[in-house]
Order: sequence, then structure tokens, then C-alpha cells
Amino acid sequence: MQKDCLFCQIIRGEKPADFLFKGESLVVFKDIYPEAPVHLLIVPRIHIRSINEVTDKDKEIISQMILKGQETAKEQGIAASGYKLLFNVERGGGQAIFHVHLHLLGGWR
Ligand code: 5GP
Ligand code: ZN
Repeated sequence: MQKDCLFCQIIRGEKPADFLFKGESLVVFKDIYPEAPVHLLIVPRIHIRSINEVTDKDKEIISQMILKGQETAKEQGIAASGYKLLFNVERGGGQAIFHVHLHLLGGWR
């Protein structure tokens, strides 16, 4: 947990968010500036800066995030129509919040 990290603060309940799921190792909440009809963020409770920092010991949480994306897409009714699971990595890759997270985007007509 990092004191000044926005997503750590959301996870600790110090900042509000619209949660869809709170689990032991990860949470899912709505993106505040949605770029698709469905735009959710799948966020591990542990603070990892970006995909660049992921190591072998994080294999479990990264696979849990992807499976949560798949499950959430089904729950949102967008699995059959299709969706994106996206990691932005570091500034040049569009990352603005440096706590690793998986975007779930979908619901286009
Ligand atoms: P990144 O660009 O780092 O991959 O994605 C960060 C995402 O977090 C962006 O899509 C942005 O809209 C979202 N975001 C930024 N601040 C907040 C916030 O305070 N609450 C929520 N729910 N989402 C946020
Ligand atoms: Zn954090």
C-alpha cells in the first residue's frame, strides 16, 4: 500500500468509487471518465507500479485479474458481443495512475 497512490486510497476506502466487486486480492470499480458504454477497472489490492514491475511472484494475481475481466464481461452482458482488456504501461503507453490495473471496455452497438 502506498500512501499517495489514488488507487490504494480508493481500495482503503479513503476516496470514493463505484465498486462492482470487492474481493480478497482484487477489486472492480467504474472508471470515472468512461471511454466506452462499459468501462471498468480491475485493480489488485497490492501496489505494483506497472506491468514493467511484474515478476514471477505476481503470476497468480495477474491471471486472477484476467479471469475477473472475463467473468465481469459475462456479468455485464458484453462477453458475446466482445470487449477489450487493456493494460496501459508507463506514460508513453497511456498510463496515468501508477498502480497496475486492467481496463475492461465494451458495450458498443
Ligand atoms: P491509465 O491511463 O492509468 O491506464 O488509467 C487510469 C484510469 O483511471 C483512467 O481511465 C481514468 O479515467 C481513471 N481514473 C482517474 N481518476 C479516477 C478516480 O478518481 N476514480 C475512478 N474511478 N477512476 C479514475
Ligand atoms: Zn497503489
